[in-house]
Formats: sequence, C-alpha cells, structure tokens
Amino acid sequence: MSSPNHPPGLHRTASIEDRVRAVQAVLDDHGLDASTHAPELDRAAQEDWVPRNGARVVARAWTDPAFRARLLADGRSAVAELGLSMPKHHRHLVVLENTPQVHNVICCSLCSCTAFTIIGLPPDWYKDLEYRSRVVRESRTVLKEMGLELPPDVEIRVWDTTADTRYMVLPMQPAGTAGWSEERLAAIVTRDSMIGVARL
Ligand code: FE
Repeated sequence: MSSPNHPPGLHRTASIEDRVRAVQAVLDDHGLDASTHAPELDRAAQEDWVPRNGARVVARAWTDPAFRARLLADGRSAVAELGLSMPKHHRHLVVLENTPQVHNVICCSLCSCTAFTIIGLPPDWYKDLEYRSRVVRESRTVLKEMGLELPPDVEIRVWDTTADTRYMVLPMQPAGTAGWSEERLAAIVTRDSMIGVARL
C-alpha cells in the first residue's frame, strides 16, 4: 500500500512468502509455535477442507429423504453422521434447499466466511469486495455475469454468513440422474453449486 505521506522508495512490496514468514516469526516469538502448526494447516486446507465433503452431503440428501430432513433441520448434526466436523465456532450449519421457485446464494458481506470444512475454502472471487457487495444489491445481474441466468419468476435469496452461522446450498438434483449411486451423484456436485452461483 502506498500512502501520500510515504517518502519515495518506501512502498511496501514484500512478497506473500516474505509476509507469511514475518507473521510466523512474530507468532513464534510469542511462543505460539506457528512454524510447527502452519504445515498442518496447509495440509488440512489442501486435503481435508474440500468441496468433496459437501458433495457427499448433497448426494446423501438426494438419495435418503430421512437424512435430507435431518440435514435441513440441523445441518451440523447431520454432517457429523458422515464423519464431517466443523470448528467449534461454526455453531450452526444452515442448509438452504433450492427448489424450482427459489434459488439460494451465499456470501460473507464482511469478509470471507464459509462452512469451509464442508464446502471447501472460499474461492478468491468470493472474498472480493465486488462479489460481496454486488451479490447483495443486484444478485440476478451478478449471477448472470457468472453464467447463471435464472428465469425471472425464480426468487433469489441471498444469505449473509456470520461468525457462528454458516450456510450451504442444497442444489436441485439434475434431471436424468434418478437411480444413480451416491458416489456417482457426489461426483457431479460442484463447489459453486453449494455456494449458489451455479446450477447442476
Ligand atoms: Fe467472513
């Protein structure tokens, strides 16, 4: 960031790697052992917090009406049935069911919150001020720009994530997939469909 008060040549241009190292060093100095924990967080981000988890949840909901009912009633407890956990501070997982009349889309207008252990870490565009502000004010236009043109009679509901309430969209099961196995269904569920910026 440059500031009008900065003398020339003092613009901060440290690389992301240098900045990460600097933050880690400060945390280490405070006894928080960041250098040990960072690789584990990195591994979890790559391997554990992936949209594949949410895709399994969606596929189960499509094939098991009793599970679907439990999922809509209490998302956090229902995903635990599939061995999926959420951080303690994600107190609620609210699952938003798309129907032919209602399309749900999620955002975090303040920053970047998602149910990341279930639907995966947020993509860059989700964190962008452009998406966060505009999807609230002009959701139909934003969705159209992202390739999802909804019929005018479909109501769009935008859900703004908070620290303790996380959302995921339950997309509609595509036509022609009745009778598919759970595994095959899970393979067609995308992260974007669980955010609500795409349909399947
Ligand atoms: Fe946030």
